[in-house]
Amino acid sequence: MSDNTVEQVIIIGSGPAGYTAALYTGRANLRPLLLTGNEVGGQVAITYEVENYPGFPEGLTGPQLVEKFQQQAEKFGARIEYDWVNEVDFSQHPFVVRTASGGELRAESVIVSTGATHRKLDVPGEKEYTGFGVSYCGTCDGFFFRGKEVIVVGGGDSALEEGIFLTKFASKVTLVHRRDELRASKILQDRAFANPKIAYKWSTVVERINAAGGDGNGTPPKVVSATLRDLKSGEVYDFPADGVFVFVGHTPNSQLFNGQLAIDDAGYIQTDRRYHTSVPGVFAAGEIQDPIFRQVITSAGQGAAAAMQAEKFLGELEAHGYRQIAAERGPAALTPA
Ligand code: NAP
Repeated sequence: MSDNTVEQVIIIGSGPAGYTAALYTGRANLRPLLLTGNEVGGQVAITYEVENYPGFPEGLTGPQLVEKFQQQAEKFGARIEYDWVNEVDFSQHPFVVRTASGGELRAESVIVSTGATHRKLDVPGEKEYTGFGVSYCGTCDGFFFRGKEVIVVGGGDSALEEGIFLTKFASKVTLVHRRDELRASKILQDRAFANPKIAYKWSTVVERINAAGGDGNGTPPKVVSATLRDLKSGEVYDFPADGVFVFVGHTPNSQLFNGQLAIDDAGYIQTDRRYHTSVPGVFAAGEIQDPIFRQVITSAGQGAAAAMQAEKFLGELEAHGYRQIAAERGPAALTPA
């Protein structure tokens, strides 16, 4: 892919924000190039059911929605490449984007929509037994827990949504939450409390995940329990479980942009209300810059807005050139944080 072509817009990331930015820049005849990253579709692609995306009153699965996003973007000329960006250089214009496949791409504008990745508990056993009973995706792995007892960790929408989903397979789901009050939306709470297969361990944390087997004789390890701590009584005990599903929030995927864009202490790319980053011509949309809303619809809306701003920027670029635009934004914008 390395040649002298300068793309008008490169979109990094393929979640709802990225695909919507591709749709909008495609319809604006900018022939966007979207680089998907490793997790095509982002978090919604591993969501069992999306029932709050307007226009689909019956609901649809995450993968179905992602497929529709992609089809609609491609219909208007977006090019989708299954590639991973491993380096960017926003200190020169046109910007440089290097990919895992060895491509060195150049672009007049970039829209960053790399989203967020699930957070880990960081307890002993979690990393070792991922894939052997520890999971971050009920939709992907629930099937393997038919008739089994599992723990779900977390008290947000993801924990409840996935916990409810897991009751289709598991005989019992025990939700372990560090507080005695859930963060999840009322509708999910009502559904979870009405589900007889879900039990609760309030004010409790997972200290360790324990497995049997995996001792070098050819048998893989298999999760058998989690060591829990009751934060109120201080009691520590082993709780039997065949699986531990972790849903404790997300971390923005911004490492690639360290030293290139202004990033806040929590790792979110800083943007203004028009989705400008600290570098003129680079925009960010979706969960990479939004710690608050984090819905498919809000990310899609931000992707549309960033695309409209990129289109505006490209018009200004043609009229005034990059130096003048950068000078008008001031020295802070010229020097990535
Ligand atoms: P979240 O809302 O950030 O909730 C994370 C949960 O994990 C919280 O209950 C938190 O406890 C707990 N937690 C965090 N770190 C922990 C740790 N180290 N140990 C134990 N527990 C820990 O994350 P989310 O549920 O993934 O949701 C993310 C966003 O997506 C939210 O905006 C949510 O509304 C949205 N979402 C929406 C839907 C839907 O609308 N259908 C579905 C899924 C997600 P505390 O409560 O004590 O902080």
